[in-house]
Amino acid sequence: MDDCLKAMQILAAAHRSQFRNLDVLGITGSNGKTTIKEWLYEMINDRQVVKSPKSFNSQTGVALSVWQIRHSDRLGIFEAGISQPGEMISLAKMIRPTLGLFTMIGDAHTEGFENQSEKLDEKLILFEDSETIIFEEDDVMVNMAIRDRFQNKRLYSWGWNQSATLFNIKEIKKLQYNTEVLIGYKKNTFKFSIPFIDTASIENAMHCLAVLLVLEISPSDINNGFQSLHNIPMRLEMKNGIQDSILINDTYNADVQAFKIALDFLSQQAGQREKVLILSDFMQTGLNSDDLNQLLAAIIQKHNIVHVIGVGRQVSRMGKYLDDRILFHHFEKTEDLIFNLQDMQLNKKAILVKGARIFKLEKVISALSQRAHTATLETDLQAIGHNLRMFFQHLQPGTKLIAVIKASAYGSGSEELAKFLEYRKVSYLAVAYIDEGVQLRKAGISVPIIILNPDRNGVLEMIKHNLEPEVYCIEQLLEILALMESYTAKPFNIHLKMDTGMSRLGFITSDIKTLCSILLKADHLRVMSIFSHLSSSEDDKDDEFTRSQVHLLDSMFETISGVLQYRPMKHVLNSAGILRFPEYHFDMVRLGLGLYGIDGTNSIQGKLEKAHTLKATVIQIKKITTTDFIGYNRRGTVESDGQLAVINIGYADGLLRFAGNRKYNVLIHGKNYPIVGNICMDLTIIDIGNDHGIQIGDEAIIFGKDKPVERLAEICGTIPYEILSRISSRVKRLYVQG
Ligand SMILES: *Cc1c(COP(=O)(O)O)cnc(C)c1O
Repeated sequence: MDDCLKAMQILAAAHRSQFRNLDVLGITGSNGKTTIKEWLYEMINDRQVVKSPKSFNSQTGVALSVWQIRHSDRLGIFEAGISQPGEMISLAKMIRPTLGLFTMIGDAHTEGFENQSEKLDEKLILFEDSETIIFEEDDVMVNMAIRDRFQNKRLYSWGWNQSATLFNIKEIKKLQYNTEVLIGYKKNTFKFSIPFIDTASIENAMHCLAVLLVLEISPSDINNGFQSLHNIPMRLEMKNGIQDSILINDTYNADVQAFKIALDFLSQQAGQREKVLILSDFMQTGLNSDDLNQLLAAIIQKHNIVHVIGVGRQVSRMGKYLDDRILFHHFEKTEDLIFNLQDMQLNKKAILVKGARIFKLEKVISALSQRAHTATLETDLQAIGHNLRMFFQHLQPGTKLIAVIKASAYGSGSEELAKFLEYRKVSYLAVAYIDEGVQLRKAGISVPIIILNPDRNGVLEMIKHNLEPEVYCIEQLLEILALMESYTAKPFNIHLKMDTGMSRLGFITSDIKTLCSILLKADHLRVMSIFSHLSSSEDDKDDEFTRSQVHLLDSMFETISGVLQYRPMKHVLNSAGILRFPEYHFDMVRLGLGLYGIDGTNSIQGKLEKAHTLKATVIQIKKITTTDFIGYNRRGTVESDGQLAVINIGYADGLLRFAGNRKYNVLIHGKNYPIVGNICMDLTIIDIGNDHGIQIGDEAIIFGKDKPVERLAEICGTIPYEILSRISSRVKRLYVQG
């Protein structure tokens, strides 16, 4: 594997070295790399620019990115991300930036490093052969390190400090929707308007400004460029479509690499559904139209697409490269397709909509979307992939992973999650009920599935669908055996649960003798694993008790496996336990909450990413005075005249009433506003004071990446598990990737 990566990197470096005269911007730093890269790409639209797709900044990602450089390119923009010492040198050899940008040094991903300065030193290796470096003057540590190390290079800095060599900031004025920035540049003052008001975006915009000035783009062109930036969604979105279809939205860009990623995602999510592709012309690929069509057709063919619908001139000629079995339709304009959508037979299909921005295929998405005026729970699959990687890294060699996706995958929707996790090579899935398992099998999931809380009447159903029950008492075991008598075709896999101190389901010490005598004769049962559950894995005050639980499991395990002809697997840890007790990883671990980026132990908090965002929509705005009362029982009032926003989420959706009466805030346009009055069944009222920037249709975030669900749980006197599992089924589920 390692050799394979090395070979790929050598090839990429050799490919890069063919383009000696190419200007290449290399971006590194802890935050903002992808956004800055995408913004620069958007803003420099008059040159041939090649860039890393999405956030391809890893050892593999960079190799793939650099590989895309072609002779027609005039500028490359690549990002480089590292997580431990020794990694930057290989990225630097592939990117060989002529121009370097350092974004900032945060405290994310410090795990591999002694301290900040070691991390900084490693990152700066990227610029060893660059001629020019751009950085923030006010970031003292970065500033000193760069000036110290690169005395002979052209250094351009920006910031409030007068000593900044490129431009200095004179004023930053945040308005309702945008921010005005005044800078001093070459003895003049220039004003820029940035269409964002949050600090991170302003900082990213300043880095872009610096790069563009160094590339000698005129201030007025830059200002125009800024106006075209809106928060660029760099991600795939999935939702339910009309006629029971599923829709994947990737209407933001169209390059070949991103196309492959989107098709992989489609294949992964489609399950048994037939796959349909709606595709516009690709822009700026550097290929002629026939070559491009041929290339795209070959990629499409590999993915077993049954129906391709093209929009644009260039794709109209793709038909001849497609297999006869693939249905091909073509429309010149997006509007023509929308007009004819009803005839396209999209019933129960999995549809990927992919195209260049100028085709505005989002109109097709909205025509195909199920109309639902409800709150949404969004799950970021990329975050889950990241968290999974973090946990995989923690596992002892040889330890397998069971992903616990009970309670509809902690609210996310188990089918979609299961497909994603199966693709990511988890060894087992675990759900609570037989129905959940059957649903996964019907969706085409084939990894082994454990049923943690099987209905005693459902044994035949489990046999039929190849589901593996948790067996926790003698009676249940005997019932299973009785049924096996008449169904002995194959051995039936089971998992024996020991009660080692939680007093919930499980065999206790005094059961073991009987259990063994039954197992001795039950050779058509296969005990896949013997396991237990800890009562206090996250709590160090109880560590002694935890250890006693594990010792009891050990001894029960030895006794039982003594009577079997084989050794089953042993497992005991949940998410918190995985992090706190590496010595108990054993054969498998059971990961639940940690997948979603919630770390109850705080030991790798900051390295995990939150996967859930619960959102509602503002559906009415009204004026309010100090003499008015708000909501049921007149519980709410305001202290000064202002406005209220009504949002479409209530306790029936899972927003607990405890959060009402100003105890909790929701986030609108990045700012917190309190809930006023009692939360109603379907609606909640928000005090937005005198902020006139909020409009009907705006999004209100209940919890998400910048608003931890832990806080809501705390206010409601509960734990994140309860908040997530209570989000009701009428809340629409949406999946995003990237
Ligand atoms: C829910 C559950 C898990 C997962 O626990 P997390 O704390 O969410 O990681 C593991 N094992 C069993 C038996 C469970 O019921």
